[in-house]
Amino acid sequence: MQTFRKTPYLIIGGGLTGLSLHYLLQKQGIESTIVEARSRLGGRIYTIQYPNSPPMEMGATWIMEPHKQLIQFLKSLNIELFDQNYGELAILEQNRFLSAQKIHLPPNREKIYRIKGGTATLIQRLAKSLNPTNLLLDEKVKSISLEKNKLVVHSDKSIFEAEKVISTLPPSLFDKQIEVFPRLGSDIRSIMENTHTWMAESIKISLSFSKPFWKSNTFQGTFFSHLGPVVELYDHSDADHRQFALMGFIHESFHTYSAEDRKQLVLKQLSNHFGTHLYNYTHYEELVWRKQSNTHSAYINYLSPHQNNGHGIFDLAYLDKKLLFAGAETSSISPGYMQGAVASAHKVFKALLS
Ligand SMILES: Cc1cc2nc3c(=O)[nH]c(=O)nc-3n(C[C@H](O)[C@H](O)[C@H](O)COP(=O)(O)OP(=O)(O)OC[C@H]3O[C@@H](n4cnc5c(N)ncnc54)[C@H](O)[C@@H]3O)c2cc1C
Repeated sequence: MQTFRKTPYLIIGGGLTGLSLHYLLQKQGIESTIVEARSRLGGRIYTIQYPNSPPMEMGATWIMEPHKQLIQFLKSLNIELFDQNYGELAILEQNRFLSAQKIHLPPNREKIYRIKGGTATLIQRLAKSLNPTNLLLDEKVKSISLEKNKLVVHSDKSIFEAEKVISTLPPSLFDKQIEVFPRLGSDIRSIMENTHTWMAESIKISLSFSKPFWKSNTFQGTFFSHLGPVVELYDHSDADHRQFALMGFIHESFHTYSAEDRKQLVLKQLSNHFGTHLYNYTHYEELVWRKQSNTHSAYINYLSPHQNNGHGIFDLAYLDKKLLFAGAETSSISPGYMQGAVASAHKVFKALLS
């Protein structure tokens, strides 16, 4: 039996956008409810934390200097940043015929930051403002309908009645997962279907170690390869340099391999350059994001990275102005990134207040 609930504002999705919007509304004393399909908050922010290992970021990690609104938001939440450590040299694996080379990284690059304690710190800080009765985990929204001047939303467990509904889903996922009555126009449906979800095809790996055996004064673990499976790798040790890890990306074509085959290929490739110490990892983690059905659903057409991200059609309100769209991919500011998620939450917050 489905439970019936009434809420002024229903936010679909408990990722960075949904939580930021809830936080902004809460600060104004406005009640909202979050319904989240996963059994955890954070969406594409997912930090694994083992005792005696640094936070291992399987999703969002880096904050760029131009992401000013996000940096300001983090400051307001008393969240500290620290520099990503690249070192002066990187290993480059160019092709099968040339042995790998050490290359100099360009000096004076734009600074890139990480969150002290892991990106999940941001999610935990925002979730503090959440009253448990206003959060429903493990509930997948299936449909939204306009009925008698209200929106009625069906999840697999509840029926909600709301004055406004804010979707924070990546638009292409919304298009495939949520039925809308009356149907949205073909213009927005076509844009949604063809909106790329940032990083949804990526495969991330992280390995933690008791000692930073790879580090020297000039080399900190930065590794690039045109061969794969690993195509990029970086030092992933914690802010205080007390716990050590490497973290990087596997080429997306390896999603068809079994997890064990991918792991063996990664260890073989990296041990060629980092030595057999590599096998002494304390934890090995990988995440194939395209298999996360609450992030990605196969596209019908080929989409280029960021295609249709920040399209103006997402700024409009639908179903008698009661259905609004937020989420990193709907933002015209840094779309796809955490900054885009926070900017979209602020944009919809302003729209709701007006
Ligand atoms: C591997 C990877 C690396 C990344 N690296 C960076 C980085 O270094 N820097 C950066 O700025 N950004 C990065 N990003 C992007 C960043 O993670 C996103 O911009 C941001 O987290 C998006 O937040 P969001 O809330 O808009 O969307 P999401 O995090 O996707 O949240 C949407 C939420 O909706 C939920 N949901 C889905 N379907 C339903 C449904 N039917 N009913 C209810 N809930 C539903 C999902 O479970 C999810 O929690 C990365 C992403 C990935 C995957």
